[in-house]
Amino acid sequence: MPITPDALKPIFPMEIIRQEVSTQKTIAIPDEVREAYLKLGRPTPLYRAKKLEAKLKTPAKIFFKREDLNPCGSHKPNTAIAQAYYSMKEGVDVLATETGAGQWGTALAYATQLFGLKCDVFMVRTSFEQKPYRKTLMQLYGAHVTPSPSQRTTFGQEVLKKSPEHPGSLGIAISEALETVVTSKNAKYSLGSVLNHVLLHQTVIGQETLIQLAKNDVEPDVMIGCVGGGSNFGGFAFPAMERKLKKKTNTRFIAVEPDAAPSITKGTYAYDAGDTAGMTPLMKMYTLGKEFIPSPIHAGGLRYHGMAPAISLLAQEKLIEAKAYSQIKIFDAAALFAQTEGIVAAPESAHAIAAAIDEAKACKRSGERQTIVFNLSGHGLLDLKGYEDYLEGRIT
Ligand SMILES: *Cc1c(COP(=O)(O)O)cnc(C)c1O
Repeated sequence: MPITPDALKPIFPMEIIRQEVSTQKTIAIPDEVREAYLKLGRPTPLYRAKKLEAKLKTPAKIFFKREDLNPCGSHKPNTAIAQAYYSMKEGVDVLATETGAGQWGTALAYATQLFGLKCDVFMVRTSFEQKPYRKTLMQLYGAHVTPSPSQRTTFGQEVLKKSPEHPGSLGIAISEALETVVTSKNAKYSLGSVLNHVLLHQTVIGQETLIQLAKNDVEPDVMIGCVGGGSNFGGFAFPAMERKLKKKTNTRFIAVEPDAAPSITKGTYAYDAGDTAGMTPLMKMYTLGKEFIPSPIHAGGLRYHGMAPAISLLAQEKLIEAKAYSQIKIFDAAALFAQTEGIVAAPESAHAIAAAIDEAKACKRSGERQTIVFNLSGHGLLDLKGYEDYLEGRIT
C-alpha cells in the first residue's frame, strides 16, 4: 500500500503531507526559512581538500561541502527549520520526535525554539545515559527529553513490564513519539530522515554545491555521501541527479553505509514499516527488516534498518552505487582527514570520506584527473569517545 495523505493526517502538519506526495518539480523556500538558513551559515562553504590530495598523491580533485559548521553541527537543521516553520504556521503547539545519538533531537530543539514551539523528544535510553552532552544541548534549547522506553506511553509501559532494564532502540522511541502525538490534542510528529519531504528540504545542499562547482568551472565526476535514512545523501545528490537523468552529465553517485546496517548492499527491496511497532505506513525500500537492531557502532546516525524510498528506487535502477564500510576503515579515513584538513568529522560523515579516499586512490592508479565531491554531513566534536576508542586501539 503506498502512503496516502489520509494515513498521514493525524501525524504530520498538512503542508508537510502536501510536500510528501507532491509531484511538482520545485517548491519555493519561504522567506522565514531562508532567514533561518542565514543563521545556519547558508550558503555553506565548499572546500577543496588540497592537503589530502597531496598526501594521497592523487591526480584527482577532492571537494567537500561543509554541513558541519552550524550551531547543531550537522545537516539536520535544514529540514528541522522547515518543519518547525510549517508547524508554527498551522498553529501546532508541540513537535514530538525520537532521537538516537541526539543529532536529530538537537536540530529539532533548535528549530522549534526559533519558531516558538515546544519540543518533546524521546531519546534512546542508552544514549540518554551514555551521551549526556547532546541531551544537555537539547534541554538548553528548551526541549523536554524523556529516556525511552518510558512510562509515558502504553507501548513504553509494555516494553518496561517485560524488560525493566530495556536499553531502548530507535524503533521503540519512534513508536513512543507517535503514540504521544495521536493521543494528544495539538502535537504533531517530526521525522529527521527517510521521507520525501525531508530529502526535499535537504536539496538546498545539492543546489548550493552545483552553483559553487560551476563557479570553479568543474563538473562533478563522482558525488559521495553517507547514508543512514538517506537524507543528507539525497539532498546532496538529487539536484545533480536531475542533470544526469537529462543526459547532461555522467556523474556517478555513491551512497556509503556502515557494514553494521547494510540496508542497500545486503537488504531486500520490499514494503516495510519505519518503526519497530509497525505503526507507520509501509514504505517500499531497501530494508533489513523492522526488527533488525544494528550493533552499537559509533556512527549512531547510520543505525537504521531501512532506506529512503526515493534513494532505494534509484539504487534499484542502478542510478546510484552503494558501498558498506567497517568501523576501523572509517576511523582510519577520519584520522587522515583530521591530520590533513584539520577537521574532526562525525563518524557518520567519515563513511563519505573513506569512499572519497578510495576513489582518489583509484584515480592515482588510472592517472585520471577526476573531480570527487563529498558531503561532510557533520562534525565529530561530540563523538570524541569514539575517537578515544580508536586511538587506544579498541576499534578493530
Ligand atoms: C543523522 C546523521 C546522518 C544520517 O542521516 P541521513 O538521513 O542518512 O543523512 C549522517 N550524518 C550526520 C552527521 C548525522 O547527524
